[in-house]
Amino acid sequence: MKLKITTSNLTANNMHIEDHDHDFDDSHIGTPLRNDAFEKTDEQKIEIIQEHFKAIMETLGLDLNDDSLNGTPKRVAKMYVKEMFWGLNPENKPEVSHFKNNFRYNEMLVEKDIHFYTNCEHHFVPFFGNAHIAYIPNGKVIGLSKLNRIVEYFAKRPQVQERMTMQISNELKKILGTDNVAIIINAKHLCVASRGIKDNSSHTTTSEYSGRYNDPETRNELHRLLALK
Ligand SMILES: [Zn+2]
Repeated sequence: MKLKITTSNLTANNMHIEDHDHDFDDSHIGTPLRNDAFEKTDEQKIEIIQEHFKAIMETLGLDLNDDSLNGTPKRVAKMYVKEMFWGLNPENKPEVSHFKNNFRYNEMLVEKDIHFYTNCEHHFVPFFGNAHIAYIPNGKVIGLSKLNRIVEYFAKRPQVQERMTMQISNELKKILGTDNVAIIINAKHLCVASRGIKDNSSHTTTSEYSGRYNDPETRNELHRLLALK
């Protein structure tokens, strides 16, 4: 589904508001993207990133003639485009097929501990953890592995945890045709653990409860099933 979206960028120094108009996939709501984000092919992007990464390494004083470092710019560029950030490209969005809810299952379904790796867009270092997803089916159910694939798609782009939580929630509501969706994400951020404050023990939890999950009873049932409570 295509949707015209507008994101605003507030730059801290001059409080200047910049509007970007995108004609991209609506799963990008909230991700600050340039208008020309998908004009280059993956191969062109790899070429350009490779050159820039080489310059970073050389600036740091590394000798790129060394056998060990020689292939690094290309490796990093390929890893960025093909592995770490492939979910930026809406063409890579997983196909989700529905099953008719023939057996009329209308209780809560919970998929726990969907592991993911993503990268914080502020430092470009990983944050990783588990997503727990719950929904109460309306007319549609989807294959369980699709929940994993949807999490993976939204993880493979520069992210902030709060936005990833919202993007997954919005996508699931759309796919499942119901507002009765809940998502809880628990993650460890290496930008907090390995640098800066160097807090190795903290975790960050975000959640989004929609529809019936706003009822205390339903929410409590979910927490019981997750054994969070
Ligand atoms: Zn960070």
